[in-house]
Amino acid sequence: MKDAVILILLILALILLFEWLKLKRLHKSAPVVTDEAPSPPQERSPDRVIERLLNAFPGPFFSINAEGKFIRTNLAAQNIFTERNLQGRSIQSIFLEAPLIEKIQEALKSWEPNSTVIQLPANSPFSQSALGKDSHWEIDLSPISLRSNTQELQIIMREITTSIHTEQVRQDFVANASHELRTPLSIISGYLENLTEDDALEDPEMSKKMLHTMVRHVNRINRIVEDMLVISKLESEDGMPLNIEDFAIGPCVRDVVERLEPLINSQQAKLTIDIPEIPLAGDRFYWTQILFNLVENALKQNASTPVHIQIIGKLIGSDRFELQIKDDGIGIPSADLPFIFKRFFRVEKHHSQSQVKGTGLGLSIVKRAVEAHQGNITASSTPGVETSFTIIVPVR
Ligand code: ADP
Repeated sequence: MKDAVILILLILALILLFEWLKLKRLHKSAPVVTDEAPSPPQERSPDRVIERLLNAFPGPFFSINAEGKFIRTNLAAQNIFTERNLQGRSIQSIFLEAPLIEKIQEALKSWEPNSTVIQLPANSPFSQSALGKDSHWEIDLSPISLRSNTQELQIIMREITTSIHTEQVRQDFVANASHELRTPLSIISGYLENLTEDDALEDPEMSKKMLHTMVRHVNRINRIVEDMLVISKLESEDGMPLNIEDFAIGPCVRDVVERLEPLINSQQAKLTIDIPEIPLAGDRFYWTQILFNLVENALKQNASTPVHIQIIGKLIGSDRFELQIKDDGIGIPSADLPFIFKRFFRVEKHHSQSQVKGTGLGLSIVKRAVEAHQGNITASSTPGVETSFTIIVPVR
């Protein structure tokens, strides 16, 4: 009897032990439920947080150790050096840009924070977005360790190519504008000096001639100032002050032709107009300016031979309007064609025998006015055969 009781107790103890082991195993594999939102363990590691922060930075970032070897990079840097793993590589084996290496080596030597601006050549991997031109960078070099036990130099790079170019364009504009204004002004002041000298006024024929030349140059100054005002309005930072309204291009063309009639007649130019009556939305003032500049150019550049100018408009599909101004005159040499929309650009040889030159601003006004209407303009030229300016704009 006693043996039977011991046996039963033993069996009970075994069952209890078995159940306890089963419960323990279940407890281990069951998920822990807490109030906190679950997050993957790697997200919480400091390295991962740093990596996420650095990837959020739009410019390239490099971290190097005291031997000049890469420790970490961000996404923007990896996008520049796509096929190469930089980790553990030396800066000299990756960067081929001498000014960049020089600045880094200086910082590694002094171990002092340093900010600098460098220009990198067009063929550098850093110049990808500069479209075949040199790129400009602002670089911060900071000896800050992201890990406590290592000496690190952090290199943060920001591209400033666009703002450098904008500044360059502004400086060129001021220099060119001053130069363009100085020429007629010095001619006028020269003639004024002659006229005020002794008996110059006693020769009425000569005085009249001088006064006429002065008037031409005053008109030129006026035109330059007017063109500069239009350009600066078109480029104003508060956006284009376009006065968009429904208008028909036909009457606009007729206005321009009327204004240029004396020139057309005196040059015996032929004009063909083929414009369908399509209602457009746009700023009539700027459309008149666009048409005037293009037709006047075709006349002005072909003053000595009768030129045939065509103004042709047509709908492309249902939502775009194409306007072409063509002439069969002197044309534009292919080497000059890429530059004609630049401010103050003039084809040199067109003006060797010139009386009063154009401002060189006409086509840049045209381009900006077309772009302000969400359109684009292209030019092609076979000198002596056909020179054509094609504008495409949305109808609405
Ligand atoms: P400009 O005031 O000198 O006419 P534009 O910006 O209007 O300045 O034109 C730039 C240059 O492009 C002109 O100086 C001229 O050499 C050339 N050009 C423009 N239109 C024509 C054309 N229809 N035929 C020949 N050359 C042209």
